[in-house]
Parts: sequence; structure tokens; C-alpha cells
Amino acid sequence: MIPKTMQALVKAAAAPGMEMREMPVPAIGPNDVLVAVETASVCGTDLHIYHWDEWAQARIKPPYIPGHEFCGTIAAIGDLVQDLQIGDFVSAEMHVACGHCLQCRSGQAHVCQFVKILGVDADGAFADYVRIPASNIWKLSPAIPRDFGSLFDPFGNAVHTVLSGSIAGQTVAVTGCGPIGLFSIAVAKACGASHIFAIEPNAQRRELARRMGARTLLDPASGDVEQQVKAATGGNGVDVLLEMSGHPSAIAQGFRLLRMGGRASLLGIPSRPVELDLANAVIFKGATVHGINGRKMYETWFQAEALLRESGIDLAPVITHRLPLAQFDEAMHLLESGEASKILLTVKR
Ligand code: NAD
Ligand code: ZN
Repeated sequence: MIPKTMQALVKAAAAPGMEMREMPVPAIGPNDVLVAVETASVCGTDLHIYHWDEWAQARIKPPYIPGHEFCGTIAAIGDLVQDLQIGDFVSAEMHVACGHCLQCRSGQAHVCQFVKILGVDADGAFADYVRIPASNIWKLSPAIPRDFGSLFDPFGNAVHTVLSGSIAGQTVAVTGCGPIGLFSIAVAKACGASHIFAIEPNAQRRELARRMGARTLLDPASGDVEQQVKAATGGNGVDVLLEMSGHPSAIAQGFRLLRMGGRASLLGIPSRPVELDLANAVIFKGATVHGINGRKMYETWFQAEALLRESGIDLAPVITHRLPLAQFDEAMHLLESGEASKILLTVKR
């Protein structure tokens, strides 16, 4: 039996913090499913919402329930839903595309003009139950460790970035080894990258980068990053830059590491406009620059599932902490301390 009320982590007011509250269990429409959340993981976005920074103030409309990385089992299905059953173990694409704009109608739903993100623009998964449109549900294969279920969203970001150009036999620089940078290293390695350089100021994260498959670990502040990368790439620089930090200095350094004619795929989000030497970084270099938003619907999900099933990629080193949902304050502090990488919040009904 589904109860009438549930425990949820609520962004209650236009101010810092979040709180556990009793909330109604969401009612579902004919094309929705209700998922009993098992695990939800914490993303940097949740930290912005928690602290109520400028971005959050402009975007978030409290009160609402955050959380967009999750997995759980289907508890109820709408009357018109096909191919899904109560008890299915699932995750979901939380970008709900409009289905009608130019992008949605031409195979680019990942950059829908009218996208609504569950957990950002509407109620998300930091709760006992979450309502999801059935078309956004992703059934999880039993061949994939259950622990990785909530990580499809950030892992998909990495898959989308790495596979947005050729990667086999290529030298790769990853700037920023947060969870998504770390996942990218594993994907690049599994897809045959020849030499992966991980550039990251946090020593603990550099060590994780080594475990995920990076060969050369570099501290961006060390002063000889460019010499080291040039020396190891026959003086050329890397074939591929995967920018996973959003930090202006990392973006500039990443482009300096990129060879003439190389590919730069940018996922990291700078907090304000960034200055870049466009002439030398991009134009004279003949670089291909690709902005990455979300995950392709649903090509990236198929690729992510195939990689996790068949390539032996292990995401476990990136999961550094596990806490009950009610200990969200501790999770947020661990995340901002730089001590944690991916934190799984577990939901006990
Ligand atoms: P994160 O904040 O955990 O990771 C960023 C990493 O960059 C940190 O480990 C940090 O130490 C490192 N860093 C800081 N300065 C650096 C420098 N000068 N050189 C190299 N590394 C440096 O974030 P995450 O969750 O892994 O996400 C990565 C980025 O992607 C963030 O900017 C996030 O906002 C963004 N993001 C984008 C999308 C998208 O769809 N485009 C989706 C999710 C996240
Ligand atoms: Zn659209």
C-alpha cells in the first residue's frame, strides 16, 4: 500500500538550507509512474540550491523537493503506461523535454528550449516517492551493480562528452576530476584512449583519477603541466580536451594543452562569463569546440548501459560516502570540503 504522506527533503524557503518534512505522496497522471526511491546521489547543483547562491536565487522556486540523481522501484503506474511494471528497478532522465520545439522535433531533445528539470524546476527525488513521466524512465539492467543506479545521470554526462568525437587511440586531457571528470576518464579508457592526463588540484581526486584509468596525474598549479603534456605527446599537445571543471584557468590551460586541429568538449559550467584567447585557443588551432548539455535522449542512455554492462567500468571508487537522506547537512558539508566525491543518500521508508 502506498501511504498518503512521505518524508521528503524540502527546499522550504528562499534562504540557505533544506529540511526534512512530511509531504503528500505525489498523485500520478495517466502517463506517469510513481517510483519508491531507494538511493539518491548528491550533485554540485544540489549544493548550489542548498547554499542559495545567485544561480539558485534566479532559478529555484521554493518550496519544492530537490534531487535529480536517483534509482528505485516502481510503486504505481498510470493507466496509459505500457512496458513498465510495478517492482521494476529504474532510474530516469530528469530533463523533461517539451516534445514540440524545433530541437525536440529534430532529434536534439537534450537542448530542448523549454526543458523542465525534475529536482530543479519541479519536485525531484530527495523523498520517499517521486513522480516521473513514463517516457523518461530508464529500466536498469540487473547485470549492473545496484549501487550504480543513481549514477546514470552524471555518468551519462561523461559518456555524452567523451563520445562526442573520436576517442580510440587518442591522447586526452581531462581538466577537473570531480565525479564527472572521473567517470570520463573511465569511459575514455574503456573506449581505447591511448594516454589520459588528469589535471586536478585536489590530491585525493588525482589518486581517484589514477584508479579510474588516467596515466599521468598533474596539479594545475605545479607550473610545468604544459611542458609535461607536450613532452609526452611528441611536442604536439593532446588530441582531445574534456573540460570538466568550469574553472576559467582550467579552460585556458586546457586549450593550451590541445594540439592543432584537436577536439575540445566542454561540460564544466563557469559561474560567470570567461575570458579566453579565442584567436590562439580556437581559431588558429582549427579546434573543434563542442558544448555538452545533459545526455542525448536516449542515445546516451543506451551507450551508458552498454558500457556499464560490457566494458568492465567500475564506478565504485567514485562512491566515497553513503548516508541516510536525513543526514543531508553532513552530506553537503562533506561535498564542499572536497573530501567526498559521490555521496549516496539512502531512503528508508
Ligand atoms: P565538481 O565540482 O565535483 O568537479 C570539478 C573539479 O574541478 C573539482 O574536483 C575541482 O577541484 C576541479 N578544479 C578546480 N579548479 C581546477 C583547475 N584550475 N584545473 C583543473 N581542475 C580544477 O563537479 P562535477 O559534479 O564533477 O561536475 C563537473 C562540472 O560539470 C561542473 O562545472 C558542473 O557544474 C558541470 N556540469 C555540467 C553539466 C552539463 O550538462 N553541461 C551537467 C552536470 C554538471
Ligand atoms: Zn522542446
